[in-house]
Amino acid sequence: MDPTIDPQLKSFVAVAADSHFPIQNLPFGIFSPTPREDPRVGVRIGDFVLDLAVIQDCGLLDSANLPAGILSFRFLNPFMELPKQQRRAVRLLVSGLLREDEPTLQEDENLKLRALLPADSVTMHMPVAIRDYTDFYSSKEHATNVGIMFRGKENALMPNWLHLPVGYHGRASSIGLSGEEVVRPHGQTIAPDAEVPSFGPSRLMDFELEMGFLVSNATPKGDPLSVDDADDYIFGMVLINDWSARDIQKWEYQPLGPFNAKNFATSISPWVVTMDALEPFRKEAPVQEPTPQDYLVEKDRHTFDINLEVHIQAEGQSEGLCVCESNFKHLYWTMAQQLAHHTITGCNMSSGDLLGSGTISGPDKGSFGSMLEITWKGTEPVTLPGGGERKFLDDGDTVTMTGWCQGAGYQVGFGEVRNTIAPARDLK
Ligand code: MN
Repeated sequence: MDPTIDPQLKSFVAVAADSHFPIQNLPFGIFSPTPREDPRVGVRIGDFVLDLAVIQDCGLLDSANLPAGILSFRFLNPFMELPKQQRRAVRLLVSGLLREDEPTLQEDENLKLRALLPADSVTMHMPVAIRDYTDFYSSKEHATNVGIMFRGKENALMPNWLHLPVGYHGRASSIGLSGEEVVRPHGQTIAPDAEVPSFGPSRLMDFELEMGFLVSNATPKGDPLSVDDADDYIFGMVLINDWSARDIQKWEYQPLGPFNAKNFATSISPWVVTMDALEPFRKEAPVQEPTPQDYLVEKDRHTFDINLEVHIQAEGQSEGLCVCESNFKHLYWTMAQQLAHHTITGCNMSSGDLLGSGTISGPDKGSFGSMLEITWKGTEPVTLPGGGERKFLDDGDTVTMTGWCQGAGYQVGFGEVRNTIAPARDLK
Protein backbone atom coordinates (compact mmCIF):
# COMPACT_ATOMS: atom_id res chain seq x y z
CA MET A 1 0.00 0.00 0.00
CA ASP A 2 1.03 3.60 -0.58
CA PRO A 3 2.43 4.53 2.88
CA THR A 4 1.16 8.13 2.56
CA ILE A 5 -2.49 7.02 2.82
CA ASP A 6 -2.12 4.67 5.80
CA PRO A 7 -5.13 5.51 8.03
CA GLN A 8 -2.93 5.01 11.12
CA LEU A 9 -0.46 7.75 10.10
CA LYS A 10 -0.29 10.70 12.48
CA SER A 11 1.49 14.03 12.19
CA PHE A 12 3.30 15.94 14.90
CA VAL A 13 1.15 18.87 13.73
CA ALA A 14 -2.11 18.66 15.68
CA VAL A 15 -5.02 17.92 13.32
CA ALA A 16 -8.63 17.90 14.52
CA ALA A 17 -10.73 14.84 13.62
CA ASP A 18 -13.01 17.00 11.47
CA SER A 19 -10.14 18.82 9.72
CA HIS A 20 -10.07 18.34 5.95
CA PHE A 21 -6.29 18.28 6.01
CA PRO A 22 -4.81 15.35 7.95
CA ILE A 23 -1.44 13.87 6.98
CA GLN A 24 -3.26 11.48 4.60
CA ASN A 25 -4.37 14.43 2.42
CA LEU A 26 -1.43 16.81 1.80
CA PRO A 27 -3.03 18.92 -0.97
CA PHE A 28 -0.90 21.31 -3.00
CA GLY A 29 -1.55 25.03 -3.36
CA ILE A 30 0.12 28.36 -4.10
CA PHE A 31 0.50 30.94 -1.33
CA SER A 32 2.50 33.95 -0.14
CA PRO A 33 3.66 33.91 3.50
CA THR A 34 3.10 37.69 3.61
CA PRO A 35 1.60 39.93 0.92
CA ARG A 36 5.09 41.23 0.07
CA GLU A 37 6.62 37.83 -0.55
CA ASP A 38 6.46 35.91 -3.83
CA PRO A 39 3.90 33.14 -4.31
CA ARG A 40 5.31 29.63 -3.94
CA VAL A 41 4.18 26.02 -3.53
CA GLY A 42 2.75 24.89 -0.21
CA VAL A 43 1.16 21.80 1.27
CA ARG A 44 -1.69 22.08 3.75
CA ILE A 45 -1.56 20.16 7.05
CA GLY A 46 -4.23 20.84 9.69
CA ASP A 47 -4.31 24.58 10.31
CA PHE A 48 -0.82 25.07 8.85
CA VAL A 49 0.84 25.45 5.48
CA LEU A 50 4.20 23.82 4.83
CA ASP A 51 6.36 26.08 2.63
CA LEU A 52 7.86 23.69 0.08
CA ALA A 53 10.13 26.36 -1.37
CA VAL A 54 11.88 26.59 2.02
CA ILE A 55 11.89 22.79 2.40
CA GLN A 56 13.47 22.37 -1.05
CA ASP A 57 16.04 25.09 -0.33
CA CYS A 58 17.08 23.24 2.82
CA GLY A 59 17.85 20.15 0.76
CA LEU A 60 15.14 18.08 2.39
CA LEU A 61 13.69 17.04 -0.98
CA ASP A 62 17.02 16.34 -2.70
CA SER A 63 16.37 12.63 -3.17
CA ALA A 64 13.44 13.50 -5.47
CA ASN A 65 15.90 15.16 -7.94
CA LEU A 66 13.61 18.11 -8.62
CA PRO A 67 14.61 20.92 -10.97
CA ALA A 68 15.94 23.87 -8.95
CA GLY A 69 13.30 26.43 -8.03
CA ILE A 70 10.35 24.34 -9.20
CA LEU A 71 8.62 24.81 -5.84
CA SER A 72 9.30 28.56 -5.82
CA PHE A 73 7.26 29.08 -8.97
CA ARG A 74 3.95 30.99 -8.80
CA PHE A 75 1.93 28.17 -10.37
CA LEU A 76 1.90 24.40 -9.89
CA ASN A 77 2.17 23.69 -13.63
CA PRO A 78 5.91 22.84 -13.79
CA PHE A 79 5.49 20.54 -10.80
CA MET A 80 2.37 18.93 -12.31
CA GLU A 81 4.30 18.17 -15.50
CA LEU A 82 6.90 16.09 -13.66
CA PRO A 83 6.65 12.33 -14.10
CA LYS A 84 4.09 10.86 -11.72
CA GLN A 85 6.77 8.88 -9.86
CA GLN A 86 8.70 12.07 -9.14
CA ARG A 87 5.60 13.83 -7.81
CA ARG A 88 4.90 10.79 -5.66
CA ALA A 89 8.46 10.92 -4.33
CA VAL A 90 7.82 14.50 -3.17
CA ARG A 91 4.56 13.46 -1.51
CA LEU A 92 6.35 10.61 0.27
CA LEU A 93 9.14 12.92 1.49
CA VAL A 94 6.66 15.56 2.72
CA SER A 95 4.59 12.88 4.47
CA GLY A 96 7.76 11.59 6.10
CA LEU A 97 8.78 15.06 7.33
CA LEU A 98 5.37 15.60 8.96
CA ARG A 99 5.09 12.21 10.70
CA GLU A 100 4.92 12.21 14.49
CA ASP A 101 7.86 9.79 14.71
CA GLU A 102 10.17 11.88 12.48
CA PRO A 103 12.37 14.48 14.25
CA THR A 104 13.99 16.34 11.29
CA LEU A 105 11.39 19.10 11.04
CA GLN A 106 9.57 18.48 14.33
CA GLU A 107 12.65 19.22 16.45
CA ASP A 108 14.11 22.05 14.38
CA GLU A 109 12.41 25.09 15.93
CA ASN A 110 14.08 27.52 13.56
CA LEU A 111 13.03 25.61 10.44
CA LYS A 112 9.50 25.14 11.77
CA LEU A 113 9.17 28.90 12.25
CA ARG A 114 10.20 29.52 8.64
CA ALA A 115 8.45 26.59 6.96
CA LEU A 116 5.31 25.82 8.95
CA LEU A 117 2.99 28.84 8.81
CA PRO A 118 -0.49 29.31 10.27
CA ALA A 119 -2.94 28.89 7.38
CA ASP A 120 -4.93 31.95 8.45
CA SER A 121 -1.80 34.15 8.12
CA VAL A 122 -0.97 33.39 4.48
CA THR A 123 -2.48 34.65 1.23
CA MET A 124 -3.73 31.99 -1.17
CA HIS A 125 -3.39 32.41 -4.95
CA MET A 126 -4.66 30.61 -8.04
CA PRO A 127 -2.91 27.23 -7.82
CA VAL A 128 -2.57 26.65 -11.53
CA ALA A 129 -2.25 28.67 -14.71
CA ILE A 130 -5.44 27.40 -16.34
CA ARG A 131 -5.15 27.64 -20.09
CA ASP A 132 -8.46 26.11 -21.09
CA TYR A 133 -11.62 25.33 -19.17
CA THR A 134 -14.19 22.81 -20.32
CA ASP A 135 -17.42 22.18 -18.47
CA PHE A 136 -19.34 18.94 -18.79
CA TYR A 137 -22.93 18.01 -17.98
CA SER A 138 -22.31 14.59 -16.46
CA SER A 139 -25.02 14.24 -13.81
CA LYS A 140 -27.97 12.29 -15.12
CA GLU A 141 -30.11 13.62 -12.27
CA HIS A 142 -29.23 17.25 -13.11
CA ALA A 143 -29.72 16.78 -16.86
CA THR A 144 -33.04 15.07 -16.21
CA ASN A 145 -34.25 17.79 -13.81
CA VAL A 146 -33.32 20.58 -16.23
CA GLY A 147 -34.84 18.63 -19.11
CA ILE A 148 -38.15 18.17 -17.29
CA MET A 149 -38.31 21.88 -16.48
CA PHE A 150 -37.55 23.04 -20.02
CA ARG A 151 -38.88 20.28 -22.27
CA GLY A 152 -41.21 18.15 -20.15
CA LYS A 153 -40.90 14.64 -18.71
CA GLU A 154 -41.15 12.83 -22.05
CA ASN A 155 -38.12 14.53 -23.58
CA ALA A 156 -36.10 15.18 -20.42
CA LEU A 157 -32.80 13.69 -21.63
CA MET A 158 -31.65 14.75 -25.08
CA PRO A 159 -31.05 11.79 -27.45
CA ASN A 160 -27.26 12.21 -27.23
CA TRP A 161 -27.02 12.29 -23.43
CA LEU A 162 -26.63 8.57 -22.70
CA HIS A 163 -24.09 8.17 -25.52
CA LEU A 164 -21.51 10.86 -24.83
CA PRO A 165 -20.42 13.20 -22.02
CA VAL A 166 -22.03 16.45 -23.18
CA GLY A 167 -19.81 19.50 -22.61
CA TYR A 168 -18.97 23.00 -23.78
CA HIS A 169 -15.79 25.03 -24.00
CA GLY A 170 -15.78 27.47 -21.09
CA ARG A 171 -13.80 30.59 -20.34
CA ALA A 172 -10.50 30.31 -18.43
CA SER A 173 -9.84 34.05 -18.02
CA SER A 174 -12.64 34.57 -15.50
CA ILE A 175 -11.80 31.64 -13.24
CA GLY A 176 -11.10 32.99 -9.76
CA LEU A 177 -10.39 31.78 -6.29
CA SER A 178 -12.55 31.21 -3.27
CA GLY A 179 -12.91 34.55 -1.48
CA GLU A 180 -13.15 36.67 -4.61
CA GLU A 181 -16.21 38.80 -5.02
CA VAL A 182 -18.48 37.75 -7.90
CA VAL A 183 -20.14 40.67 -9.64
CA ARG A 184 -23.68 40.19 -10.92
CA PRO A 185 -23.52 40.30 -14.73
CA HIS A 186 -25.54 42.39 -17.16
CA GLY A 187 -27.06 40.75 -20.17
CA GLN A 188 -29.95 40.22 -22.51
CA THR A 189 -32.98 38.39 -21.24
CA ILE A 190 -36.47 37.86 -22.51
CA ALA A 191 -39.64 38.08 -20.45
CA PRO A 192 -42.22 35.30 -20.84
CA ASP A 193 -44.40 36.08 -23.88
CA ALA A 194 -42.28 39.10 -24.86
CA GLU A 195 -41.23 39.38 -28.49
CA VAL A 196 -38.08 41.40 -27.98
CA PRO A 197 -35.41 41.06 -25.30
CA SER A 198 -34.64 43.51 -22.54
CA PHE A 199 -31.26 44.39 -21.06
CA GLY A 200 -30.05 44.80 -17.49
CA PRO A 201 -28.52 43.02 -14.51
CA SER A 202 -29.32 39.30 -14.40
CA ARG A 203 -32.25 38.59 -12.10
CA LEU A 204 -31.78 34.83 -11.94
CA MET A 205 -28.28 34.43 -10.55
CA ASP A 206 -27.46 30.83 -9.66
CA PHE A 207 -24.63 28.62 -8.47
CA GLU A 208 -23.69 25.20 -9.82
CA LEU A 209 -22.14 22.69 -7.42
CA GLU A 210 -19.33 21.07 -9.36
CA MET A 211 -15.95 19.48 -8.99
CA GLY A 212 -13.17 19.69 -11.49
CA PHE A 213 -9.87 18.06 -12.28
CA LEU A 214 -6.62 19.56 -13.46
CA VAL A 215 -4.75 18.00 -16.35
CA SER A 216 -1.14 17.23 -15.40
CA ASN A 217 0.50 16.76 -18.79
CA ALA A 218 -0.04 18.05 -22.30
CA THR A 219 -1.17 15.62 -24.98
CA PRO A 220 -0.06 15.92 -28.61
CA LYS A 221 -2.52 17.36 -31.11
CA GLY A 222 -3.94 14.59 -33.25
CA ASP A 223 -3.51 11.82 -30.65
CA PRO A 224 -6.60 10.83 -28.69
CA LEU A 225 -6.05 9.72 -25.12
CA SER A 226 -7.24 6.19 -24.40
CA VAL A 227 -9.90 6.00 -21.70
CA ASP A 228 -7.69 3.52 -19.84
CA ASP A 229 -4.68 5.87 -19.87
CA ALA A 230 -6.66 8.97 -18.94
CA ASP A 231 -6.11 8.66 -15.17
CA ASP A 232 -2.38 9.22 -15.73
CA TYR A 233 -3.20 12.74 -16.96
CA ILE A 234 -5.20 13.81 -13.91
CA PHE A 235 -3.16 15.69 -11.30
CA GLY A 236 -5.87 16.36 -8.75
CA MET A 237 -9.25 17.86 -8.01
CA VAL A 238 -10.84 21.07 -6.72
CA LEU A 239 -14.33 22.28 -5.85
CA ILE A 240 -15.97 24.48 -8.49
CA ASN A 241 -18.82 26.95 -8.31
CA ASP A 242 -19.81 27.41 -11.93
CA TRP A 243 -21.82 30.64 -11.56
CA SER A 244 -24.74 30.86 -13.95
CA ALA A 245 -27.19 33.59 -14.97
CA ARG A 246 -30.28 31.56 -15.79
CA ASP A 247 -32.27 34.35 -17.46
CA ILE A 248 -29.38 35.17 -19.79
CA GLN A 249 -28.83 31.46 -20.45
CA LYS A 250 -32.44 30.87 -21.43
CA TRP A 251 -32.38 33.51 -24.17
CA GLU A 252 -28.92 32.95 -25.58
CA TYR A 253 -28.20 29.21 -25.38
CA GLN A 254 -29.70 27.96 -28.63
CA PRO A 255 -28.15 26.74 -30.84
CA LEU A 256 -24.54 26.95 -29.60
CA GLY A 257 -24.85 26.57 -25.83
CA PRO A 258 -24.08 28.92 -22.95
CA PHE A 259 -22.03 32.07 -23.55
CA ASN A 260 -22.57 35.19 -21.40
CA ALA A 261 -24.61 33.16 -18.90
CA LYS A 262 -21.44 31.40 -17.81
CA ASN A 263 -18.44 33.46 -18.86
CA PHE A 264 -18.42 36.12 -16.12
CA ALA A 265 -17.09 34.00 -13.25
CA THR A 266 -16.15 30.51 -12.16
CA SER A 267 -14.75 30.00 -8.66
CA ILE A 268 -12.46 27.22 -7.43
CA SER A 269 -11.11 26.08 -4.06
CA PRO A 270 -7.41 26.86 -3.49
CA TRP A 271 -6.06 23.43 -2.41
CA VAL A 272 -5.61 20.76 -5.10
CA VAL A 273 -6.25 17.31 -3.65
CA THR A 274 -4.15 14.70 -5.47
CA MET A 275 -5.51 11.47 -6.87
CA ASP A 276 -3.12 9.63 -4.53
CA ALA A 277 -4.94 11.11 -1.53
CA LEU A 278 -8.33 10.17 -2.99
CA GLU A 279 -7.36 6.56 -3.73
CA PRO A 280 -8.86 5.09 -0.50
CA PHE A 281 -12.23 6.60 -1.46
CA ARG A 282 -12.41 5.08 -4.93
CA LYS A 283 -15.63 3.26 -5.73
CA GLU A 284 -17.50 1.77 -8.67
CA ALA A 285 -19.16 4.27 -10.97
CA PRO A 286 -22.84 3.85 -11.94
CA VAL A 287 -23.58 1.11 -14.50
CA GLN A 288 -24.14 2.58 -17.96
CA GLU A 289 -27.11 1.46 -20.00
CA PRO A 290 -26.78 1.44 -22.99
CA THR A 291 -23.11 0.51 -23.12
CA PRO A 292 -21.33 3.48 -24.70
CA GLN A 293 -19.08 3.36 -27.79
CA ASP A 294 -15.88 1.31 -27.38
CA TYR A 295 -13.66 4.37 -26.93
CA LEU A 296 -15.64 5.22 -23.76
CA VAL A 297 -15.68 1.72 -22.24
CA GLU A 298 -13.33 1.50 -19.26
CA LYS A 299 -11.49 -1.62 -18.06
CA ASP A 300 -11.49 -0.25 -14.52
CA ARG A 301 -14.51 2.02 -14.31
CA HIS A 302 -14.45 3.94 -11.05
CA THR A 303 -15.33 7.16 -9.31
CA PHE A 304 -14.84 8.61 -5.82
CA ASP A 305 -17.04 8.92 -2.75
CA ILE A 306 -16.87 12.65 -2.02
CA ASN A 307 -19.56 14.23 0.16
CA LEU A 308 -20.61 17.68 -1.02
CA GLU A 309 -22.59 20.48 0.60
CA VAL A 310 -23.76 23.95 -0.38
CA HIS A 311 -24.65 26.67 2.15
CA ILE A 312 -26.18 30.08 1.46
CA GLN A 313 -25.93 32.93 3.90
CA ALA A 314 -27.64 36.30 3.51
CA GLU A 315 -25.68 39.52 4.01
CA GLY A 316 -25.34 40.54 7.66
CA GLN A 317 -26.52 37.16 8.97
CA SER A 318 -24.39 34.93 11.17
CA GLU A 319 -26.10 31.75 10.09
CA GLY A 320 -26.60 30.15 6.71
CA LEU A 321 -28.82 27.45 5.28
CA CYS A 322 -27.61 24.12 3.92
CA VAL A 323 -29.48 23.90 0.60
CA CYS A 324 -27.77 20.85 -0.88
CA GLU A 325 -26.14 17.60 0.26
CA SER A 326 -24.83 15.66 -2.71
CA ASN A 327 -21.97 13.33 -3.65
CA PHE A 328 -19.48 13.13 -6.51
CA LYS A 329 -20.21 9.39 -6.84
CA HIS A 330 -23.59 10.09 -8.48
CA LEU A 331 -21.99 11.28 -11.73
CA TYR A 332 -22.80 9.09 -14.74
CA TRP A 333 -19.77 9.99 -16.85
CA THR A 334 -16.35 9.58 -15.20
CA MET A 335 -13.33 11.87 -15.44
CA ALA A 336 -11.57 9.28 -17.61
CA GLN A 337 -14.51 9.22 -20.03
CA GLN A 338 -14.57 13.03 -20.14
CA LEU A 339 -10.86 13.14 -21.05
CA ALA A 340 -11.17 10.35 -23.63
CA HIS A 341 -14.16 12.02 -25.24
CA HIS A 342 -12.51 15.46 -25.17
CA THR A 343 -9.45 14.18 -27.04
CA ILE A 344 -11.10 11.63 -29.36
CA THR A 345 -11.04 14.20 -32.17
CA GLY A 346 -7.33 14.80 -31.65
CA CYS A 347 -7.96 17.91 -29.56
CA ASN A 348 -4.80 18.40 -27.48
CA MET A 349 -4.82 19.06 -23.74
CA SER A 350 -2.46 21.46 -21.97
CA SER A 351 -0.96 21.14 -18.53
CA GLY A 352 -3.29 22.96 -16.17
CA ASP A 353 -6.48 22.58 -18.18
CA LEU A 354 -9.54 22.48 -15.94
CA LEU A 355 -12.36 20.06 -16.72
CA GLY A 356 -15.55 20.60 -14.73
CA SER A 357 -17.99 17.82 -13.93
CA GLY A 358 -21.18 19.74 -14.49
CA THR A 359 -23.69 20.32 -11.72
CA ILE A 360 -23.62 17.38 -9.30
CA SER A 361 -27.21 16.62 -8.35
CA GLY A 362 -28.21 13.48 -6.49
CA PRO A 363 -31.47 11.54 -6.71
CA ASP A 364 -33.32 13.25 -3.82
CA LYS A 365 -34.72 16.72 -3.48
CA GLY A 366 -32.16 17.69 -0.81
CA SER A 367 -29.31 16.77 -3.14
CA PHE A 368 -29.92 19.12 -6.05
CA GLY A 369 -26.86 21.16 -7.02
CA SER A 370 -28.36 24.45 -8.28
CA MET A 371 -31.06 26.91 -7.21
CA LEU A 372 -32.79 26.21 -10.54
CA GLU A 373 -33.49 22.68 -9.31
CA ILE A 374 -33.76 23.37 -5.55
CA THR A 375 -36.54 25.92 -6.05
CA TRP A 376 -37.81 24.17 -9.20
CA LYS A 377 -37.41 27.20 -11.48
CA GLY A 378 -38.41 29.54 -8.66
CA THR A 379 -41.74 27.89 -7.89
CA GLU A 380 -40.65 26.56 -4.47
CA PRO A 381 -38.55 29.26 -2.74
CA VAL A 382 -36.29 28.51 0.22
CA THR A 383 -36.17 30.67 3.35
CA LEU A 384 -32.79 31.75 4.70
CA PRO A 385 -32.21 32.38 8.41
CA GLY A 386 -32.95 36.11 8.83
CA GLY A 387 -32.57 36.74 5.11
CA GLY A 388 -36.00 36.17 3.62
CA GLU A 389 -37.03 34.02 0.69
CA ARG A 390 -34.81 33.02 -2.21
CA LYS A 391 -35.78 31.73 -5.62
CA PHE A 392 -32.34 32.60 -6.94
CA LEU A 393 -29.43 34.51 -5.34
CA ASP A 394 -29.52 38.08 -4.03
CA ASP A 395 -26.69 40.61 -3.89
CA GLY A 396 -24.73 40.10 -0.67
CA ASP A 397 -25.50 36.38 -0.52
CA THR A 398 -22.52 34.20 0.30
CA VAL A 399 -22.40 30.75 -1.29
CA THR A 400 -20.13 28.20 0.38
CA MET A 401 -19.42 24.80 -1.13
CA THR A 402 -17.48 22.16 0.71
CA GLY A 403 -16.46 18.58 0.01
CA TRP A 404 -14.80 15.75 1.90
CA CYS A 405 -14.18 12.01 1.90
CA GLN A 406 -14.97 10.28 5.18
CA GLY A 407 -12.28 7.88 6.43
CA ALA A 408 -12.27 5.88 9.68
CA GLY A 409 -11.69 8.67 12.19
CA TYR A 410 -10.39 11.21 9.67
CA GLN A 411 -11.50 13.18 6.63
CA VAL A 412 -9.73 13.96 3.38
CA GLY A 413 -11.32 17.19 2.25
CA PHE A 414 -11.18 20.08 -0.17
CA GLY A 415 -11.76 22.96 2.25
CA GLU A 416 -14.26 25.27 0.66
CA VAL A 417 -15.06 27.59 -2.20
CA ARG A 418 -16.84 30.58 -0.71
CA ASN A 419 -17.84 33.71 -2.58
CA THR A 420 -20.17 36.65 -2.09
CA ILE A 421 -22.27 38.24 -4.83
CA ALA A 422 -21.67 41.93 -5.41
CA PRO A 423 -24.27 44.17 -7.08
CA ALA A 424 -24.06 44.70 -10.83
CA ARG A 425 -21.69 47.57 -11.71
CA ASP A 426 -23.08 50.84 -13.09
CA LEU A 427 -22.56 50.89 -16.81
CA LYS A 428 -20.95 53.98 -18.29
MN1 MN B 1 -21.62 24.12 -15.20
